[in-house]
Amino acid sequence: MLVSDLHVHLDGSFREETLVGLAVERGLEPDESRARDLARRLRFGPAMSLGACLERFHVTTALLQTSKALERVASELVRDSYLDGVRHLEVRLCPALHAGFGLTGQEIVESVLAGMEDGAGRAAGDGSTAVVTAGLVLAVLEGMSAEEAADVVDLAAGYAESGVLGIDLAGDEALFDAARYAAAFGRARDAGLGVTVHAGEGHEAAHIRDAVETLGAERIGHGTTVLDSPGTADLVAERGVTLEVCLTSSVHTGAARSVAEHPLPRMLAAGLRVTLATDNRFLSATTLSREYDLAASELALDRRDLDRMAIESASSSFLPEPERARLESLVRASVGQDAPPERE
Ligand SMILES: [Zn+2]
Repeated sequence: MLVSDLHVHLDGSFREETLVGLAVERGLEPDESRARDLARRLRFGPAMSLGACLERFHVTTALLQTSKALERVASELVRDSYLDGVRHLEVRLCPALHAGFGLTGQEIVESVLAGMEDGAGRAAGDGSTAVVTAGLVLAVLEGMSAEEAADVVDLAAGYAESGVLGIDLAGDEALFDAARYAAAFGRARDAGLGVTVHAGEGHEAAHIRDAVETLGAERIGHGTTVLDSPGTADLVAERGVTLEVCLTSSVHTGAARSVAEHPLPRMLAAGLRVTLATDNRFLSATTLSREYDLAASELALDRRDLDRMAIESASSSFLPEPERARLESLVRASVGQDAPPERE
């Protein structure tokens, strides 16, 4: 099965050996053995709370302050995902978190785009053709001012034709404030950027409603509480909003008590558009194929549900046409479903 990963954070998706190497190089740890201990300590575990998970990004982002490091991690992420069956990735990062050594927003974006292009070109191993696509989603962080959010959108809009596909609202959902970012997200939509918002990650379903109504979200990151509010679930269904479900991550943040207790089967039964994503490959020690396996083994989802979520990973991508349609055909063919299903 071929799929796309629509929700993956660059600063949580290192190769372990790269993180170890960068930690020594940056002087965060004196030697490799101590850096390996650091890598072990950084990994998420069950029920950590979102806040405790977010704390660990202080360390990972500290390692991503140079063009070289950004490029390397982006390239490796694309190549590793390709080997896992991923044919399109939408990689998130917040530029402000990578500017500690003085890189400009443009330098940060261009380093990651260059790394992703390098990874895409090398994914198949022969370096001849791009067999995987990857785009960037720039994140506004909860707590930023409206002006800071506007800066993120301006930066993204400058690359709307050249690799930046969308805009995200991420970070500590306890600070959720859709109204503050309404103007910036409106400008992002006008610039043709896709909008996805982390909402309802164990927090109230009202955030999901605000994300859709106030920010124009076409996709919601997590949305684990969507079914707590029938009105919100109806809105999400009516607008065709896609939920980016990250099973392992939701157990780590405490948004779900266990994979087996995740509301994913009920989301599917309610007719909502859902896809699976990794969130943080390194920090959550997962891959996208593992997430699909978990959905089958822990939630007893059948082939039809898994295929449906795989196809959704393509149809909900922020890729422009005709690339999006091409990706969808590729994923459909891989699950033996060439014709688009009838939508009511
Ligand atoms: Zn996320």
